[in-house]
Amino acid sequence: QKVVHWFRSKDLRIQDNIGLHHASDLAQSSKKPLIGIYLHCPEELSWHGTSPARVDFICEGLKIMQDELKDLNIPLVFLQADKRSDIVSTVTKFLRDNDVSHVFANYEYEVDELRRDIKFLKEVGDKTQLSLHHDQTVVEPGTMLTSGGKPMKVFTPYHKTWLSIVKDDPSLLDTVPPPSKNPSSTTKDLSSLFSSQPPSPPEDKQFPSTSDRTRIRNLWPAGHAAATKRMQSFLTHISTYASTRSQPAHDSTSRLSPYFSAGMYSARSALSAVRAHNSQSADFSESGSSAGVYSWVREVVFRELYRQTTLTTPHTSMNLPQNLKFEFVQWEEDGKGWEKWIEGRTGEPFVDAGMRQLRAEAWMHNRLRMNVSSYLYCNLLIDYRRGERYFAETLVDWDLSNNTQGWEPSYTVFNPVSQAERNDPGGEYIRKWVPELKDVQGKAIFAPFARLSKEEFEKLEYPKPHVDWKETKQRAIERFKSDMRDA
Ligand code: FAD
Repeated sequence: QKVVHWFRSKDLRIQDNIGLHHASDLAQSSKKPLIGIYLHCPEELSWHGTSPARVDFICEGLKIMQDELKDLNIPLVFLQADKRSDIVSTVTKFLRDNDVSHVFANYEYEVDELRRDIKFLKEVGDKTQLSLHHDQTVVEPGTMLTSGGKPMKVFTPYHKTWLSIVKDDPSLLDTVPPPSKNPSSTTKDLSSLFSSQPPSPPEDKQFPSTSDRTRIRNLWPAGHAAATKRMQSFLTHISTYASTRSQPAHDSTSRLSPYFSAGMYSARSALSAVRAHNSQSADFSESGSSAGVYSWVREVVFRELYRQTTLTTPHTSMNLPQNLKFEFVQWEEDGKGWEKWIEGRTGEPFVDAGMRQLRAEAWMHNRLRMNVSSYLYCNLLIDYRRGERYFAETLVDWDLSNNTQGWEPSYTVFNPVSQAERNDPGGEYIRKWVPELKDVQGKAIFAPFARLSKEEFEKLEYPKPHVDWKETKQRAIERFKSDMRDA
């Protein structure tokens, strides 16, 4: 008999993987071999609109993980289900054919994934025991409740409670070791499993240009080792994070999001590294840590809250806004506006710079994500779900919880001119991504159509604003039936 860990696309690592760790313990104590499986489902990927950059990142990560597991004499077997509806039966068949007594996996909190696991639980029957673990977060989603016993949804109290839970129980940050080696006596008959081939990466033609794959791979090398290196390098400048994190030209954020979203790096690993940096203290409050540490951990706590939100407000993973009022907004078509938004040619330099960074890097700075999303659903009044989907189709770090919560419409409207003036005061970020504007001097870079003469503007070959910001803000107020705050 055998023990299996089923890797999903959110736990692609052998280090500090809770489900895998328990699977290994059981395999060792019962003297059974441990096998890893990964199920590839092309229909599932296209269902979510998963970007070629992300699929490629996952495929690369799987190759690395297969090698790491091979060193531990553990095979990683790739299964394929062409249709989503065949996922459970494909895995169940493998378990039966290979006489598997126990299967381990880590929870995924989206509705479809939870339904899949319920179906799986029914189908594996009594022959195989299923064991699911919480692995994605430090504090288990669904456990942070208000005094009235409801799941917390508001960030400030969630953050405060989270900080005190972790301070009181720092062991929550402790990581678990990689699995133990399979004794060779247990794997004698498994040679065919060791030669399983990882899924093929997307074809070149799925990338906008042939050089893109290489560029993206260089920007985002897959795997846990690459993530660890990135974390170590980030720690050398975490002290400046609080003051520079909103300034995209500084590029001072960790850029760890693809690794968190594919599970190549765990939140525990990240925060235990921060704890070591914080004189071994798990007090990440304002008084217990530096401004940089406090504000970075705060962002990781957003990630934790958003997983709780996905679990406790299931409609957010079913294409519905958390605030259902937004389901009744009358949206505009504006095909031209949509195209300009995608191409980064809206005539708003800050928005355009963000959208061009997204195309070039399959990633966008958080400040820009806030600006381009607000521009799409407040100023163009285009259904925010189209933007949400476009992000999934483009980002290397796509993550359902962070993306749906990031796109959740709000009554705050971002002014791209004042946002750029405040967060890109020298205009470097705009100049980098919108080269048409690289020679524009002074404050004109933030609003060239309004601030340059007609002749000067025409020379730039840069579009004039697609919409008037003030007028469209007014239109949003009417459609959302609410006043709007400016940001
Ligand atoms: P850092 O600033 O170094 O933060 C560290 C980690 O904290 C990040 O890697 C991320 O896991 C988490 N984090 C940071 N900011 C946020 C946030 N606002 N919300 C939740 N978690 C956060 N993040 C994704 O991982 N995938 C997405 O698909 C995604 N879509 C977004 C869409 C919109 C419209 C918005 C406004 C935000 C979105 N975010 C998403 C959140 C955030 O923009 C990214 O996590 C962040 O920019 C990643 O860069 P970093 O790793 O350098 O972050």
